Amino acid sequence: MVKVLYNGDIQEEVLQGKKIAVIGYGSQGHAHALNLKESGFDVVVGLRGGKSWDKAVEDGVDVRSVAEATAAADVVMILLPDEMQPKVYEESIKPNLEAGNSLVFAHGFNIHFSQIVPPADVDVFLVAPKGPGHLVRRTYSEGAGVPALYAVYQDHSGQAREVALAYAKGIGAARAGVLETTFQEETETDLFGEQAVLCGGTTALIKAGFETLVEAGYQPEVAYFECLHELKLIVDLLYEGGLENMRYSISDTAQWGDFVSGPRVVNEDTKARMKDILKDIQTGAFAKGWILENQANRPQFNAINRSENNHQIEVVGRELRALMPFIKKPVNAKKEVVVH
Ligand code: NDP
Ligand code: MG
Ligand code: MG
Repeated sequence: MVKVLYNGDIQEEVLQGKKIAVIGYGSQGHAHALNLKESGFDVVVGLRGGKSWDKAVEDGVDVRSVAEATAAADVVMILLPDEMQPKVYEESIKPNLEAGNSLVFAHGFNIHFSQIVPPADVDVFLVAPKGPGHLVRRTYSEGAGVPALYAVYQDHSGQAREVALAYAKGIGAARAGVLETTFQEETETDLFGEQAVLCGGTTALIKAGFETLVEAGYQPEVAYFECLHELKLIVDLLYEGGLENMRYSISDTAQWGDFVSGPRVVNEDTKARMKDILKDIQTGAFAKGWILENQANRPQFNAINRSENNHQIEVVGRELRALMPFIKKPVNAKKEVVVH
């Protein structure tokens, strides 16, 4: 089995006395900046004026422009949206990098697909938490952590691995476990996971189940509870103890249905399509499409987003959630839905 490292395996001295610039203060940025600061590291946040800037000031962190934060720092973690990174890197980060600095990412996309080509005299590595930024922050505050992957792309100093591990410890990831990967593996598995299983696969499965019930004449409210709301309870059981633990908690009728019907929904055909999706990721075809979509100002992304937000399951869901005040509001205002 691959070696998983924990707090006791990692020396953080290599990062002490160094200045860490966290560029961006969104989902990941606020979590890294606050966790590192509370772990005793010297943190500056790099931003443009706006919503994130105001929030960072409110949280009491040292905020400067991206150029100034980069110039002041030894370690520069880029936590901007992936599609914005190449432009901001060229304009404000690259001119302020010094030999011996560390350039850090939380996802390998821009390095792996050559959208950012770093100079030879810096360390380049990634520390990628395997969870949303708001959980990286919340679990840290509770004394726990979200596991992370790390990978070294370029080791100019000879210490890139140690610095990466110290960084992972600083954000609390080594409380949960840190394991080594490569930029290629992190990028390809991350994209595949979010497309085929975690996000794309799950939303498509939920919608197909909901539509099947509603089209058969069942009440949309009942279909919503069955296909979306209850999923969280099932996922909590999976998270705590795998498939066996989830199956232990459900009725034997549900478990028998799981065994006989699950493979009818996700079958060899589905798996063949997953392989196609993986191939598009590996060949760069997916990356190219996403890069071009952004260059064209996201015509398809915006059109699909609008129609998805108006899907019947979303309309019904909004009404039902409003009646369940114990359900938390979305954590990220950016991701709150505007319905047109
Ligand atoms: P967000 O979209 O949540 O945050 C982006 C931040 O960048 C905001 O603070 C935004 O500030 C700032 N920003 C955007 N454009 C600029 C600009 N031109 N100049 C300065 N600041 C700018 O990003 P995420 O946290 O989701 O993603 C960051 C990285 O982390 C990505 O590489 C992603 O793949 C990776 N990652 C993300 C995960 C997640 O949980 N979301 C999980 C694991 C990895 P403003 O308010 O001004 O727009
Ligand atoms: Mg991702
Ligand atoms: Mg049931």
